[in-house]
Amino acid sequence: MTETNKICRRCLAREMPSADYFQTMYDYISQLDSDIKTPDALYEQRLACCKECDSLLNGMCRICGCFVEMRAAISQNHCPGVHPKW
Ligand code: SF4
Repeated sequence: MTETNKICRRCLAREMPSADYFQTMYDYISQLDSDIKTPDALYEQRLACCKECDSLLNGMCRICGCFVEMRAAISQNHCPGVHPKW
C-alpha cells in the first residue's frame, strides 16, 4: 500500500498526503462570497466536530458523501447526521 492509498479515519482532506489533489476545492472555498461563506471561527468548530465523528473517513462524510471541508464552508449547510453535530 502506498502512502497516498492509506485510509485515514478522523482525517480532514487537508491533512492527507494527497492534499495537493484537493487544491481546486480549497481555491473554490477561498473564493466563496462572504454572504454564503461560513465565518472562519465557526468553520473550524464545524471541522473539529467532524474530526471527532465516526462518520469521517478520508476527509469525507460517510453519511452524505461530501468532503466535510467543502460542506462546512457554506454557512447554511448543516451536519447531515440523525443527531446533527453542527
Ligand atoms: S456526520 Fe456530521 S460531524 Fe460527522 S462527518 Fe458528517 S458532517 Fe461531520
